[in-house]
Amino acid sequence: MTKPLLQVEGVGKRFGGFIALDGVDLTIPAGERVGLIGPNGSGKSTLVNCLSGTLVHETGTVRFEGRDLAGLGPHQRTRRGLARSFQLPRPFASLTIAENIRVPLVYAAESRRGRRLSEPEIAERIAEVLGQMGLADRARHMPCDLTQVDMRKLELARALAAEPQLLIADEAMAGLSNSEVDEIVALLIGLNEAGITVVLIEHIMRAVMQFSQRLVVLVSGRKIADGAPAEVVRHPEVERAYLGQ
Ligand code: ADP
Ligand code: MG
Repeated sequence: MTKPLLQVEGVGKRFGGFIALDGVDLTIPAGERVGLIGPNGSGKSTLVNCLSGTLVHETGTVRFEGRDLAGLGPHQRTRRGLARSFQLPRPFASLTIAENIRVPLVYAAESRRGRRLSEPEIAERIAEVLGQMGLADRARHMPCDLTQVDMRKLELARALAAEPQLLIADEAMAGLSNSEVDEIVALLIGLNEAGITVVLIEHIMRAVMQFSQRLVVLVSGRKIADGAPAEVVRHPEVERAYLGQ
């Protein structure tokens, strides 16, 4: 058995009286590619926010490599190796693409490696991340010059720069063409094959099925299915949730 990288137990989150997450359990072994699906408003982003430390959940625990993450903020979690990309890309608008990679690289990767990186090492690593994301020829561009697909790649590249063990991609493909979706799926599978555990939150089912080795379904803040993708999509409650949308 592979040791779990992420262990989520009974995570609950309310917004006022509204229950956004209702006791979610989730175990993700190192090396896996997991798809997380669910109708709009089912709590997917809220779960990611609780895992990444952007939101504080009221009940339950989140363990990463066996350690409880309670009390740790987003930056501390990134330094531990848990990185996420945002549904709405958030680049530093006044920095070039290369500088956008440099910031998380210096703040997180240095801390993960336990030492300062030299300038040549930083430049090499920036080039490597841009290359992995197919952005090598965009290094000197500004975020506002990027196409939508390149903006999505930049958002993933910024998460990747932190050298995470776990990458959670929140709707990394919204608004893209079929071929662009295929491109992002291939990039994410490539990252996984390079050793990164990847959780993909996505509405485009073709992409989810291509990507996922395991599929988790959230409906109204509850996990209703978790298992082999081909079986999960035939689950009656999953069919009902999607048909009822
Ligand atoms: P998903 O990502 O699955 O579409 P979200 O996690 O964004 O869903 O949202 C789950 C529910 O929680 C939605 O009903 C949403 O309106 C609500 N919600 C999310 N964030 C907040 C917030 N900061 N304040 C109040 N309600 C929120
Ligand atoms: Mg969302």
